[in-house]
Amino acid sequence: MRHFHYRAGRLWADEVPLDQIAARFGTPAYVYSEMAIHERYTAFSHALGPETLLCYAVKANSNLHVLASLARWGAGFDIVSGGELARVLRAGGDPQRTVFSGVGKSREEIRAALDAGIFCLNVESEAELEQVDAIASGLGCRAPVALRVNPDVDPGTHSYIATGLRESKFGIPLVHAERLYLEAARWPAVDFRGIACHIGSQLTDLAPIAEAARKVRGLYERLAGAGVPLSHLDLGGGVGIRYHEEQAPTPAAYAAVLHDALAGLPVRPVVELGRSVVGNAGVLLTRVEYLKDNDGKKFCIVDAAMNDLLRPSLYGAWHDILPVQEESPAETGTLDVVGPICESGDFFARNRPLAVRAGDLLAILSTGAYGFAMASQYNSRPRPPEILVRGSEARLVRRRENLADLLTAEENPD
Ligand SMILES: *Cc1c(COP(=O)(O)O)cnc(C)c1O
Repeated sequence: MRHFHYRAGRLWADEVPLDQIAARFGTPAYVYSEMAIHERYTAFSHALGPETLLCYAVKANSNLHVLASLARWGAGFDIVSGGELARVLRAGGDPQRTVFSGVGKSREEIRAALDAGIFCLNVESEAELEQVDAIASGLGCRAPVALRVNPDVDPGTHSYIATGLRESKFGIPLVHAERLYLEAARWPAVDFRGIACHIGSQLTDLAPIAEAARKVRGLYERLAGAGVPLSHLDLGGGVGIRYHEEQAPTPAAYAAVLHDALAGLPVRPVVELGRSVVGNAGVLLTRVEYLKDNDGKKFCIVDAAMNDLLRPSLYGAWHDILPVQEESPAETGTLDVVGPICESGDFFARNRPLAVRAGDLLAILSTGAYGFAMASQYNSRPRPPEILVRGSEARLVRRRENLADLLTAEENPD
């Protein structure tokens, strides 16, 4: 998180003090460092090499301006909905470098993806394969498809974000997928291009990724032997970042695992990285509203809430929290940092040592991924703005929602 650093007693985002951003745009607010995103993107892209298609997983942070920067730097994209396809196209992303994942693509979404000329649809069931074939045939085109296999590997992460185990809803079991590839003639409008898998998110150990890659390689080799030629292997995303005390894999270590697993195969590697590109490039800026002491149990009530940042409530996730003013005259207490929402699950930290007063600014770190992207209007709270810092310039890239935004879709629904 060296793009968010103290200088002269204040916390800065690159060349901009965060208190200045709060004064200009208000709180709560998401602040991203474009340099931090660029650094991570180029680190992965250099480590993986030019033959790898690096698709940025849009769901981690889908702000149009973030997508536009990534598109300019040459990123491909991994999308999971028609809405994300629209964002990628609007941001100038290349559909020929975009893959479409997800277990429940609708007809409209499949049609839109084929119309746009997408690089590949990652299909997750035989029923979806039938659907894709029928739609492509209706459009008079052939659909580029990879089957997303479920390699039954335990990624050792939170159960909500483990996706490659037999009991998870994702992917097709390897043996079943193999049969589908061999029966390709049943789907004349489908063009099998590759194999895809994604076993989970926030993986701090690369061994499960290596194991999944070995299983995908095995399938590729059996298919090649049976005369089914495929041109790419998509190994998904899921590289973890450091939120607290985790050791996050480096881009070089990740690339080495991939290169090792695919060594000697005449295929194009594809990856789908989200969190590891943007996660540590953002903070949620919030202001302390009140301090409260309930018989010795101390609370710090801030103006951000679980609707703005869901990860602590949803996963019990840890986020470091730093005061924007480095030295506070307040004494350090052990506090729960909580929001104003009517849920006991509305917290950002529990029993955290912090020195704060009402009115102080706090930065909740590592919120560049699955932060704003998961925000809602729960409790009829307008969603916060997003600010992209580029060097010494802070640019509003999504305005704060207002009360009209809350009401408009309901005012004249007919
Ligand atoms: C969420 C997701 C990703 C990205 O995961 P990260 O942990 O953010 O890298 C990649 N591929 C698929 C299919 C996903 O669902």
